Amino acid sequence: MGAEVSITALPHPRRAVEPFGIVHAARYAGDRQHFTTACAVYPAPVDAVLEHTADRPVNCPGCLAAVETVTHCPAAHAEDPSPCSGPVMVTVLDKHNHGAAGCEQHASRLLASLEGGRVYGLPTAPEGAAIRVFNTAGTMRPFEWLDGGAS
Ligand SMILES: [Zn+2]
Ligand SMILES: [Zn+2]
Repeated sequence: MGAEVSITALPHPRRAVEPFGIVHAARYAGDRQHFTTACAVYPAPVDAVLEHTADRPVNCPGCLAAVETVTHCPAAHAEDPSPCSGPVMVTVLDKHNHGAAGCEQHASRLLASLEGGRVYGLPTAPEGAAIRVFNTAGTMRPFEWLDGGAS
């Protein structure tokens, strides 16, 4: 526990609900009997019901900690507490060509905080992601998270 979790960690878009109400963030791994939870409890709780959506809030502390870690993409400022809006979509470059990959939300915030920043969609991103980030950044103040932007 407490190990570093890389941003390449896989997302856990499903829920594994145990009979006593513990809800894990889970990832489907082939069939009903094979899923992994973000907290990496092993063996996976066999009597949990795997849900195919992420609608139910996670309440397993281990999963929350793991999900919390992976929901901060490299573009997120260390002092920005807001979670990622989704998967990493774009790369933001500053005027020295230093780049950080980010979700749309954090990339927008980063871009809004850079002078002469640019944004490029990753090859895997849906069309228009970079343009949305660019447009959103235009509506933001620099360092928006510092004064209650996330209230
Ligand atoms: Zn868990
Ligand atoms: Zn992010």
